[in-house]
Amino acid sequence: MRFVPRFTDGQAYSERLGKIVCVGRNYADHARELDNPVPSEPLLFIKPATSAVPLESPIETPAWRGEAHYETELALLIGEELTHATADEAERAVVGIGLALDLTLRDVQSRLKEKGHPWEMAKAFDGACPLSPFLRLSQVPNWCALSFTLEVDGELRQRGEGADMLFPVPTLLAEMSRHFTLEPGDVVLTGTPAGVGPLTRDTELRLTLTGGLALTTRVAE
Ligand code: ZN
Repeated sequence: MRFVPRFTDGQAYSERLGKIVCVGRNYADHARELDNPVPSEPLLFIKPATSAVPLESPIETPAWRGEAHYETELALLIGEELTHATADEAERAVVGIGLALDLTLRDVQSRLKEKGHPWEMAKAFDGACPLSPFLRLSQVPNWCALSFTLEVDGELRQRGEGADMLFPVPTLLAEMSRHFTLEPGDVVLTGTPAGVGPLTRDTELRLTLTGGLALTTRVAE
């Protein structure tokens, strides 16, 4: 069954989830922790709608394919079609902001990177994109500058500031829309800050977003 994005007031968005467009290395500190160069243009990839699951559900990953890492990211719900958009048009097309985990099979990804192959086998599996409900933008002033955190079993592991993105949200969306049309119901993940790490069975993940989101989930046993 196709995932439907929801708002924090429980209302379903009018469109089903489309594609999830993601950016790699949008925070310099995370690029460095994985020994990757800081990019001069955004490195884009897409997770399919079939990878989305509610963030509150226990997290399941295909253990037989090696280590799975969490990457905590700001998620934007798109409400208008964007093709070759300007940064202003792109910023106005966002209708909701939430949090997502860009789950990544790190061993698989390392092998793909070595060969220069695409990343989908590491990032597009069923369940690879736990998504939170979205805050309506009318509830969040200055939403481009929000900060978010991830705690694992009560320990702070990731802290991201919208202001630290190498490609800020409006620029990033405009750039994405030069490569693929963004449609209502698409979600954009904006990259992860430093602190990524392996998911360990039966640990608790707590994600917060300044402006009103706090969610707890668990890695399945
Ligand atoms: Zn990511």
